[in-house]
Amino acid sequence: MSGAKRPKEYEKLIVKGKRCDGRKIDELRPLTIKVGVIKRANGSAYVELGKTKVYAAVYGPKELHPRRLVEDDKAVLSVKYSMLAFSVNDRARPGPNRRSTEISKVVKHALEPVIFLEEFPQLNIELIVDIIQADAGTRTAAVIAGSVALANAGIPMKGLVSACAAGKVDGEILLDLNAPEDNFGDSDLPIAMTSTDKKITLMQLDGVMTKAEIQKAIILIRKGNDYIISKQIEALKGVYQ
Ligand code: ADP
Repeated sequence: MSGAKRPKEYEKLIVKGKRCDGRKIDELRPLTIKVGVIKRANGSAYVELGKTKVYAAVYGPKELHPRRLVEDDKAVLSVKYSMLAFSVNDRARPGPNRRSTEISKVVKHALEPVIFLEEFPQLNIELIVDIIQADAGTRTAAVIAGSVALANAGIPMKGLVSACAAGKVDGEILLDLNAPEDNFGDSDLPIAMTSTDKKITLMQLDGVMTKAEIQKAIILIRKGNDYIISKQIEALKGVYQ
């Protein structure tokens, strides 16, 4: 984010109100959501947000190992986020690293508030998210896919969780940054919120934004999330109708 020298094609990221991929300032990337895509999982989802492509699979509720992690009064939601080696231009190093550990943790925190974890004491609900192709917004795509996969697994939930980001690029607040905007922009603000009461369950800020800019970003993000939730519901209904 920011500071990086821009290649010629990205010298200007906004020209006459249009972004480098042709989108308007307040436009999300094309979003596709598929449900029940992995046969051997209890629930699963595939999410495509522009060029960002993500699979999520849910296993459980099931026994939790190692036993020292067991919670007596509720289930544990364990999240494992990974980027496949071919998901980025320079082959991603396999295995966990600081970034994947952080994203696993924030995705867990984004989803936990809507799950009735107390219905499954001592058990484990495992969510595995694999990034097939990364083009910015993988944590928000992970939340979208994870939430739908949990619902598809029949895990009792108060509602869904959706997520999208907005950021500051060349002095403008843009919805849902793509990779060049994320790499060469000034800041990125991913936010997850619940479908029922629109409570924020994840908010991170990479870079610097003023209070007014954050408020502007949140207005865009709320609109983006309303659309994402409608697509999540549509995808789930499609499976059960
Ligand atoms: P997010 O994917 O949630 O936006 P980051 O801000 O950490 O999270 O990453 C932004 C983007 O940077 C990723 O979506 C991906 O396109 C790129 N990226 C992240 N890690 C790597 C990596 N190890 N190699 C190449 N590109 C990466």
